[in-house]
Amino acid sequence: MAEKPFHDQKIVDLANHRADPADGAFGASITRGQEHTLAANEQVMDLLSHILVDESLPFYVTALDGTVLQVNDFYKKLDEALRDVSLAPGQVEHVGKYAVPSLKPVVEDVLASDTTVRSEEVVHINGRERVFLGRHSPIRNERKEIIAVAGTYEDVTVQVRGIEEANKTQARFQDFARASSDWFFECDDNMRIRSLSDRFTAIVGQPASLFVGSKFEQFGRLGENLDGRIDGPKAIQSRKPFREQLFIINEPNGSELKFHLSAVPVFDRTTGDFSGYRGVGMDVTSRYEQVEEARGIRENLESLLAELTRKNMALDIASEQATSALRAKNEFLAAMSHELRTPLNAIIGFAEAFEQQTFGKLDEAYIGYAKDIRKSGQHLLGLINDILDVAVIESGGLSLKIDDLSLDVLIEKAVHMNMEAARQKGLNIDALEVVTEAVVRADDRRLTQILVNLLSNAVKFTKEGGSIGISLSEDSVKKQVDITVWDTGIGISASNLAHVFEKFHQVKDHIYSRSQEGTGLGLHISRELARKMGGDLTVVSVEGEGSRFTVTVPLADGVSADDLDFI
Ligand code: ADP
Repeated sequence: MAEKPFHDQKIVDLANHRADPADGAFGASITRGQEHTLAANEQVMDLLSHILVDESLPFYVTALDGTVLQVNDFYKKLDEALRDVSLAPGQVEHVGKYAVPSLKPVVEDVLASDTTVRSEEVVHINGRERVFLGRHSPIRNERKEIIAVAGTYEDVTVQVRGIEEANKTQARFQDFARASSDWFFECDDNMRIRSLSDRFTAIVGQPASLFVGSKFEQFGRLGENLDGRIDGPKAIQSRKPFREQLFIINEPNGSELKFHLSAVPVFDRTTGDFSGYRGVGMDVTSRYEQVEEARGIRENLESLLAELTRKNMALDIASEQATSALRAKNEFLAAMSHELRTPLNAIIGFAEAFEQQTFGKLDEAYIGYAKDIRKSGQHLLGLINDILDVAVIESGGLSLKIDDLSLDVLIEKAVHMNMEAARQKGLNIDALEVVTEAVVRADDRRLTQILVNLLSNAVKFTKEGGSIGISLSEDSVKKQVDITVWDTGIGISASNLAHVFEKFHQVKDHIYSRSQEGTGLGLHISRELARKMGGDLTVVSVEGEGSRFTVTVPLADGVSADDLDFI
């Protein structure tokens, strides 16, 4: 709100007074025709002739009863400008003839205060508001008695409105400053802080007055901003504006507050001399923290990437080494297996001869020992054969001899090799008899090996009185045949089922399985072989009910092996 610039404020709406021509512009209504003491007035007029009146302002003199004694030309002009609205106190020709009580309140004020009374009067003329400053002063005789009142009216509308505007603008900018997250500062020509806005106090937590009089460097330091610029000092030297100069304040708890200072130089309007800077400080602490954090993350990522690349290279080297080590291992195993098999076959052969007493009669105990030697030798030979197979498969050196084979011949051969063991165990083997005319394309030795392995497992894992068998299912569309070796044995738990094809996997979770011989390589090798021959090996099993191992083999192209013989 605009400040009240004058002592008093009386508002007279002249429009309301026009109806009565006796009304004056200022003060209360004027009644005319009253007599007044001419002697006293003459005394005043006499006095007035000795007073220098400022002709640039409307001027009047009134007797103590409110009668207007004198007005100047300016007053008359103003009166005319106001047309039918007269400024107080009435028409000029009435001066000296009428009692004009309209100025009575003014006169009373002057008499009461015994000094000059100032009043601001707002006058509505043709709907527009004008503000007049009235100065009403006592006129005294030689005995210092007040004998009249003289006054001037000054049109101060422009000044008053100017002050009001200025106040409004200032209030507006104060609102902006309060609402802004930035703070404002003023420095003198020596760069000493002259003023700081309240916002600075809110951010720094210390009264702004503590910093007034000091230079920025005394409570903080300048630094490079995010663009790597430090423009402030150079700009100040050459009295130029600067933007985004980083300014850092260390807080008592050790953390840093960061600001961007931007300012413009101020020059004296009249002399043109440099008189300081005016500017704004923006709190950029969190922005810098975010940038720092992002930089940290990027550096971390970069080092992670470097580490990853390094590890990858190491992995490549290791994998290269592992591949060549595996190759070397497999080559070694293949060579060793050959070397081992020859003496092992001799051991087995001689043990068999002792068992059968080929070289003469032996003590029962020795026959038993010979049997143990043979069995152990055969187990060892099986193991070596399996290891050799794995080595050959893994080194990619497996060579297959694919032929068209009569499936029933092949199955019969495999069944025959397990028949004795099945019979000895008292298993029902009726379902092992298979009649088929199917011709498959496979490696004879390897497919037999698969079937022997599946059948020997079926025998091994089926308890006395159980059944084992073979079933076939041809798919002429897919041109393949499924050979399923099934049993009503112990079955395989779901958790083990997923692992039976892994190398060296043997189910150890039931007593029965532990009593069985084996290497845990048979199924692994069988599946690899089946796949290499263009088929597969799968299993379905329910623990306690039995298992069904199915080997899929491609069928020959509708031509049987027998037919081939005639071509
Ligand atoms: P192993 O030479 O030990 O028999 P395999 O690879 O042929 O090795 O078999 C792996 C494991 O799978 C066996 O030890 C056994 O636990 C399980 N298994 C294989 N066939 C059967 C089956 N017909 N019934 C139950 N378990 C079986």
